[in-house]
Formats: sequence, structure tokens, C-alpha cells
Amino acid sequence: MKQPPRRTLVAGNWKMNGLARSLGEVEALARALGGDDPPPCDVMIFPPATLLAPMAAVVRRACPFVTLGGQDCHADAGGAHTGDVSAEMLADAGAGAVIVGHSERRQDHGEDDAAVRAKAAAAHRAGLISIICVGETLEQRRTGRAADVVSRQLVGSMPQASDGANTVIAYEPVWAIGTGLTPEPGDIEDMHDAIRRRVATLVGAEAGYMRILYGGSVKPDNAATILAIDHVDGALVGGASLKAVDFCAIITTYQARQSA
Ligand code: PEP
Repeated sequence: MKQPPRRTLVAGNWKMNGLARSLGEVEALARALGGDDPPPCDVMIFPPATLLAPMAAVVRRACPFVTLGGQDCHADAGGAHTGDVSAEMLADAGAGAVIVGHSERRQDHGEDDAAVRAKAAAAHRAGLISIICVGETLEQRRTGRAADVVSRQLVGSMPQASDGANTVIAYEPVWAIGTGLTPEPGDIEDMHDAIRRRVATLVGAEAGYMRILYGGSVKPDNAATILAIDHVDGALVGGASLKAVDFCAIITTYQARQSA
């Protein structure tokens, strides 16, 4: 199947890390990337909610090409949901995107596919790009169920109105997150190909425009290999996004590949 061009996206998920002093990492990233020209790929950072507004101020001044996002949102726009943050609140604080269905949310908060779909729909309602995470556990991969599990998650988690502009899929094998383990390149390629084919059954030709990121232990030393895999449109990076020097190395790996 001939693919339309998709702009590579490198996204950093800070998880529950970062205090006000960590904003310096964003300044450092801007300096490390250098120059006034935006990098040839999209860059997103997902800080904890407490840092969103102050980070938005830094980004506006130092690196306006970076899009900020939330790590989760509630499905409702507002109301009696103590401790939750709505997609509209994220947008108000400066976000342009939100991660939904991260495996840590699915595990720690019992979020099922229906909840993830409602959150993704809320993101679209608020004008945010949703990054919908899917991925199998080690046990599911060992028992040959990885493709089925991911297919089921896609069907259950993607709102009907998903398209290439408002949705990004992140394939994140649970066993690869924060472990230093990654699937074989061929396994990543097969899964990304299967994801695009499954997405095509749900949204038709829009699937060709939808970016599919790989996430799970992406580091400066494996980024070149992973970003070169067919059907991989970028990376969702956890631990290695916390230090500007590492995150910049992943982004510039992509730059180097482009100009090679
Ligand atoms: C993540 O949590 O989305 C992630 C990919 O983490 P790490 O890069 O640390 O494995």
C-alpha cells in the first residue's frame, strides 16, 4: 500500500517527574537544538500537569516549535471529579495534545478501552491531538496474543471521528517500558503494519495519514535503528526525555537520518 507522507513526531513523556527547577531542561533543549529554525520533525513534551502552564511560558519564549501536552484527561469538560483534569483545562493551560490509555493508567487506574475512547473523544472536543497508547504484556506476547490484544485495544479505544490530524497511535509493549528491553526491529515493523491495517478498517483512508509511534526504552543509542523501521512514524520517549541532552540526541538522530 503506497503511504502518504507523515511528519515524524518525537514525544517526551515526563510521567510523574519534574519540579519547577526542571523547566531548565526545556531551556537546555532549546539551546541544544540551536538556531531559530524548527527541527525537521515535530516535537512534543508531556510534563506533569503542575508544570504545564509554566512550561508553556518557557516554550513560547525559547522553543515555540514544541507542542506541550497532558498525560491524561477526564472525559467530562468539568464537574465534581476531585483530582481530575479535563481536556479543556489542559488546552487552557497551553496544551495541544494529550496522552490517553498509557499502560500505567490502564494498570494503576484500571482504565479500560471504553474509558480511553471517552478520553480521546474529550481531547478532540477540546481541540487537542490524542495520543492513544496500546501494547501487549510480556505474557500476552509469549503466548502469541500480542496482535490480537493490540487490535482489540484499537477497536475499543479509538473514537469514530479519529483522523490523521487529531489522532496519533503509540505502540508501547508494556514489557519494554522502562526496562531497557525492546522488541526485535522486525517485530516492531510487523506490529506497526498490523496497526495501520487495523486502523484502516476503522477510519478508512485516514489511516494512511495517522502517525504510529513506537514507545518503550527508546534511548539515544537505539533511536536511529528504531526510527529507521518501516511504518514507524516517530517515538514516544519516557526516561530519556527527562534530560535535554538525551532527548535532543534522539531528535537529532532523526535529523541526521534525514540529511544522510
Ligand atoms: C513511556 O512511558 O511511554 C515510555 C516509553 O517509557 P520509557 O521510554 O522510559 O520506556
